[in-house]
Amino acid sequence: MTKIIKLKPGKEESVFRHHPWIFSGAVSNIPEGIEEGDEVCVSSSKGDILGTGHYQIGSITVRILEFGTDHLTEDFYARRLESAYRLRENLNLIRPDNNCYRLVHGEGDFLPGLVVDIYGDTAVMQAHSPGMHFARHKIAEALTMIPNARIRNVYYKSDTTLPYKAHLDPDNEYLIGSYDGNIAIENGLQFNIDWLKGQKTGFFVDQRENRSLLERFASGRTVLNMFCYTGGFSVYAMRGGAKSVDSVDSSSKAAALTDANIMLNFPDDSRHHTYDTDAFKFLADMEKDKYDLIILDPPAFAKHRSAIKNGLIGYRKLNAKAFEKIKKGGVLFTFSCSQAITKDMFRMAVFTAAAKSGRKVRILYQLSQPADHPVDISHPEGEYLKGLVLYVE
Ligand code: SAH
Repeated sequence: MTKIIKLKPGKEESVFRHHPWIFSGAVSNIPEGIEEGDEVCVSSSKGDILGTGHYQIGSITVRILEFGTDHLTEDFYARRLESAYRLRENLNLIRPDNNCYRLVHGEGDFLPGLVVDIYGDTAVMQAHSPGMHFARHKIAEALTMIPNARIRNVYYKSDTTLPYKAHLDPDNEYLIGSYDGNIAIENGLQFNIDWLKGQKTGFFVDQRENRSLLERFASGRTVLNMFCYTGGFSVYAMRGGAKSVDSVDSSSKAAALTDANIMLNFPDDSRHHTYDTDAFKFLADMEKDKYDLIILDPPAFAKHRSAIKNGLIGYRKLNAKAFEKIKKGGVLFTFSCSQAITKDMFRMAVFTAAAKSGRKVRILYQLSQPADHPVDISHPEGEYLKGLVLYVE
C-alpha cells in the first residue's frame, strides 16, 4: 500500500495549481516507516488524494510526479518519456545533423528530480532526488523502449547531484549498454562529449541556440570566449568566419576538451588558441581594444539564495572588465545560469557595470534557455538561464 502524506488545512492551494513541490511546513503527518525516496500519495486535509510523488527529507517533502492516482510504474515513466521525446521531435531537434538535445528537463517535463541528455544513441541520466535514484532501472528500461528514439546505452551519473545527506553514494555506471563512442553532432558541428569525467552530463546543451546566434555575429571578428568548457561557442565562432578565436578556462581538462573539439571540426586551423588560466586574471592582463566579440558564460556564481549578494558582485566585476576592454563597436554575449538570480537582478548587475564604464550600450537580444529546457508555468522556478547580447560603442 502506498503511504499517504496529508496536508494541513489551507495548504492545498499550490497543489490545485499543479505546483509539484510540497514543502515540509504544509504537511500534517509523516507516515510511520516511510523511507526517503518512497513513492507516496499526497492527500488534502479532508483525505482526498491529490497526487503521487517521491518522499524526501528536507525542505521539500514531496515532489509530485502525477496529479492523479496513477502509480509510478515503468509504464508511467514510459509514457512520460515518450511524451518528452515527441516534444523534441516536434521542435525538430532530432535530425541527421543534430543528435544531441535534452530529453528530460525535470519539472519542465513533469518529471521532478530527473535530467536526461541525449548524445547520439547514449542517454546520460542524472537523478536529483532519492526517488529518481531508486527508479533509475525502470527509467533506463523505459528510455530504451521509446519508439524510434534508438537509445542503446544509458549512463547513470548522479554522484554530485543527489542530496549528500541521503548517503546514497551512487556509482556512475552504464545501467544499459556500454561505451560505444562519444562524438555528438550539434547543428552540423561535432563535439567530443566526456560524460565519464566532464561537468554535468558532459556538455552544456542549453547554449545551443545562443551559440547559433553567436555564429551570425562572428564573421571577421576577433573573438574571446571566456569560461569556454568544451569550446562550444568557439567552434561556432570558427564556422561563422571569425578572424581569430581565443578560448579561456581555468580547468586544464576543459582547455584540452576545447582543443580536441576545434581539432575535430577545424584541424590545423591557426585562428584558434586556448588559454588554461583564470578568467579574472586574463581579463585584467589583456590589452584594451583587442577583442570585438566577447562571450562571458561563467559557472553559477550564486548556487543558493544565501549567495545572491556575492554572486551579483561577481557578475558586476566580470562584466565591468569586459565593458572596459572591448573594442568600439564590439558585441558582448553575457550570461548567468544562477537560478537564484532573477532576470532583473542580472540585468541590474550588467547595467551597473556598463554605466560605470561610461560606454554607450544597447541591448540587441535578450536570451534564455532553449525549448528542450521547457518551463512548466506551474513551476516558474524552472527558468534559470539568462543572457544579453549587447552592442558596445
Ligand atoms: N560556456 C560553456 C559552459 C561554461 S561552464 C559552454 O558553452 O559549454 C563554466 C566553465 O567555467 C567551466 O568549464 C569551469 O572550468 C570554468 N571556470 C570556473 N571558474 C573559472 C575561472 N575563475 N576562470 C576561468 N574559468 C573558470
